[in-house]
Amino acid sequence: MDIFSTKKLEQVLTKIKTILEEHVYPLENNYINLPFSEVSDELNKIREIVKEKGLWNPHLSESHGGIGFNLVEFGQISELLGTSPYGHFCFNCNAPDIGNQELLLGNASDFIKEKYLEPLIKGEIHSCFSMTEPEFAGSNPVNMGTTAVKDEDHYIINGHKWFTTAADYASFAIVMANTNPEAESPYQKASMIIVPTDTEGFHLTRNISVMGEENDGYFSHAEIEYKDCKVPIKNLVGNEGEGFKLAQQRLGPGRIHHCMRWIGICERAFDLMCKRAASRSLAKGIKLGHKQTIQNWIAESRAEINASRYMVLHTAKKIDEVGAKEARMEISTIKFYVANVLMNVLDRAVQIHGALGITDDIILSFWYRHERGARIYDGPDEVHKTALAGKILKNYGLDIKK
Ligand SMILES: Cc1cc2nc3c(=O)[nH]c(=O)nc-3n(C[C@H](O)[C@H](O)[C@H](O)COP(=O)(O)OP(=O)(O)OC[C@H]3O[C@@H](n4cnc5c(N)ncnc54)[C@H](O)[C@@H]3O)c2cc1C
Repeated sequence: MDIFSTKKLEQVLTKIKTILEEHVYPLENNYINLPFSEVSDELNKIREIVKEKGLWNPHLSESHGGIGFNLVEFGQISELLGTSPYGHFCFNCNAPDIGNQELLLGNASDFIKEKYLEPLIKGEIHSCFSMTEPEFAGSNPVNMGTTAVKDEDHYIINGHKWFTTAADYASFAIVMANTNPEAESPYQKASMIIVPTDTEGFHLTRNISVMGEENDGYFSHAEIEYKDCKVPIKNLVGNEGEGFKLAQQRLGPGRIHHCMRWIGICERAFDLMCKRAASRSLAKGIKLGHKQTIQNWIAESRAEINASRYMVLHTAKKIDEVGAKEARMEISTIKFYVANVLMNVLDRAVQIHGALGITDDIILSFWYRHERGARIYDGPDEVHKTALAGKILKNYGLDIKK
């Protein structure tokens, strides 16, 4: 048994693996190149099976209808679920719903919990998180243009967002908007406000085409105009001016979820890579795997995936024990490191498959398109590297912020 494993976890992983093998992977062949909406009926049937088996919401505590795992344990579930693009969705722990659930559990009022969080936890509705704007650099989101102005007991929201993942099928958006422009610190100007997607003035103008694919539902990223969107003040999450503080809280565990999901993708790509290396003949008696370059790719990929897993689980353990704030350096490190391992492993897997690798006949091309964003969202590589190096150099007497 692995040092990060537990008996309870092993039992649950075995049950999850059975569901993936019997129900989830078989869907990929027929559906992965179709819009998400066309597979959602099939996925909803699997979601019912997951509930019946007591595996629903593996990220939540038992008192909130989950299984009661810590982040180290859930991380390992996230890896297994990451081996299929449908995995997290079937277990109700898909982004951005999972991050929004955790955010609302920790910070929302009873009104918000009852109206928005409970149906989200039950899987009756979906949500999205709307912060990034095309006109401003998302990697420094304090410069945002969206405003929420008070009008008696309502906020009037105006702004332009994009890359709001999964807005297309969401019942509500958590919108980041400036409520306190006069605040001294730029980090205290914005708040998070819930906007139901059927609010007048919520205009989803398009699902953005990413590398030739628009898709819909869970697999889409929307551009949205908020035009005089009127929502009650009680839709505020936490307190006014706390938007960035809450965003930071949301991102800590979120990066563990993403990194472990990426490791799951790496394992699947690695498996395909090895199968191809062992079966593709170059000449009589010579397989691809006889070539040293291919052997190097296999060995390097194995080492990088193993290193990633231990780095991420170590970070998760630190978050479990002392909280995300104390684990900031580790979180920055895994975010850029694992995103790049994902790129390396996927690229090698594609290359080993030759022309087949870039077709939509196998799943690698789906991930190649969908996961290039890993190096950009939740903080681009360069931002995390600067944060990490800055903290290291401070110990050597150099403050790079000065
Ligand atoms: C697949 C995907 C899903 C997303 N989902 C969501 C979502 O659900 N909700 C949401 O609000 N947003 C979402 N985003 C947006 C994401 O958060 C932003 O793209 C990200 O914050 C970067 O912002 P930007 O695109 O404006 O790039 P910019 O901020 O313009 O940065 C562009 C590039 O400049 C470089 N750079 C930036 N800062 C520095 C620096 N300090 N030093 C050196 N180089 C730097 C980096 O290479 C960076 O990639 C998503 C993005 C992607 C790709």
